[in-house]
Amino acid sequence: MKDIYFRIYKLPKELQDIIYEFNVEHRPLYGKVLKQILAIGNYMCDNCEKIISKSEAKIKFIFFQKYRFCSSYCSYNCRFDILNSFKRNILKRRYKLRVKRYKKL
Ligand SMILES: [Zn+2]
Repeated sequence: MKDIYFRIYKLPKELQDIIYEFNVEHRPLYGKVLKQILAIGNYMCDNCEKIISKSEAKIKFIFFQKYRFCSSYCSYNCRFDILNSFKRNILKRRYKLRVKRYKKL
């Protein structure tokens, strides 16, 4: 396997680019780039990453941050996750404060 990569490495840059376009590892990365290209002029759902037009997007503000969703389900799901993580962070801070106070005693 290393021999193949070494042989490809010896080829000119243009040929290397063409060969790596057919590489299996290239496909998921290229898929992400295609999604980003399609999202230009449109929005991407902040929950499921589905591409939606600006007129279809449901815009919500959660903790003063703007989010765009494709459906009410995505909106609810993402809001639930954000609120849960917020609660967890508050609980962690309270716990750390209590531990600090306890150590001082
Ligand atoms: Zn969605």
